[in-house]
Amino acid sequence: MTERRRDPLTGEWRMFARHRQDRTFLPPEDHCPLCPTRPGGPPTEIPLADFDVVVFENRFPSLVAEPPSPDVAGSELYPVTPSVGANEVVVYSADHTLGLADMDAARVARLVAVWADRYAELGGRDEVAYVFIFENRGVAVGVTLHHPHGQIYAYPEIPPRPRLELDVAAAHLVRHGTCVVCDVVGRERADDVRVVARNRSFLAFVPFAARFPYEVHLVSQRHAASLLDLTDPERLALAELLQAVVAGYDHLFGFPLPYVMSMHQAPTDDGQHQAISHLHLELTPLHRSADRLKFLAGSELGAGAFVNDTAPEDTAGQLRAAMARAGIFTGAAG
Ligand SMILES: [Zn+2]
Ligand SMILES: [Zn+2]
Ligand SMILES: [Zn+2]
Repeated sequence: MTERRRDPLTGEWRMFARHRQDRTFLPPEDHCPLCPTRPGGPPTEIPLADFDVVVFENRFPSLVAEPPSPDVAGSELYPVTPSVGANEVVVYSADHTLGLADMDAARVARLVAVWADRYAELGGRDEVAYVFIFENRGVAVGVTLHHPHGQIYAYPEIPPRPRLELDVAAAHLVRHGTCVVCDVVGRERADDVRVVARNRSFLAFVPFAARFPYEVHLVSQRHAASLLDLTDPERLALAELLQAVVAGYDHLFGFPLPYVMSMHQAPTDDGQHQAISHLHLELTPLHRSADRLKFLAGSELGAGAFVNDTAPEDTAGQLRAAMARAGIFTGAAG
């Protein structure tokens, strides 16, 4: 069973992929499918002795280039479509333990270049409307393989959260004549109170209306609709700041903070999205303290309204302090 069904109440598409139940779950390190294949060792997904960054199609995909027909017949009330699109796995390095925070910036910049290539390649397919680059890190966010890696989903339509952001940005543009994310960058730069780190091209801050206590948005300081609009120095600046923020997370409570990293950029459906798409990464750790997670419960799941028990101005300060203790350059005034 691999199909997409539309929720008649919200209009949102959901993906169904029953075969994913059987996927590899937290294998021991010597059976890691994302490590290089060692001479005499078990075969892995990557038949190479060493590599820099590797991308391959997910063996347990929710979206595929040539999907099977749905198992059920659709109707006007219950639309069903084949799961067309792509799911890719991006393995960050051959080293089983080398995460974003520990790599050198040049290596992270090569990862950014790979992301940009995949965005262009997948976005160029007729059936792909949105390329979503993300990383789940840590068992708390459902990671099934520890080897540092991210994923790319290529969807046949713009998914709900980017859709909402684009609609809000379009309304803002009509009303004010400006990009809302550009306005946010200007506002955050004005007093630095929520800024966690910054460099010449990117700004990292806890959003004014953050959903999660240690949520950080990493935003291009100039209007760039996608990774393809960044110059090489800007890609390096993105790599450096991403690395600094993740290293800051690792020093906040003294263990690698589980998080979801989501990249939002322009849809690839040939619509007119340049003026309202502004490249940004949203990092959402689930922890609200060293030993407590923020669970999505009644208000969040049932009403879609987040309750945050912390002040973004305070958590930004805590993140800056953690980075300062660790000697991570933040460029933030504080
Ligand atoms: Zn591994
Ligand atoms: Zn903008
Ligand atoms: Zn966003």
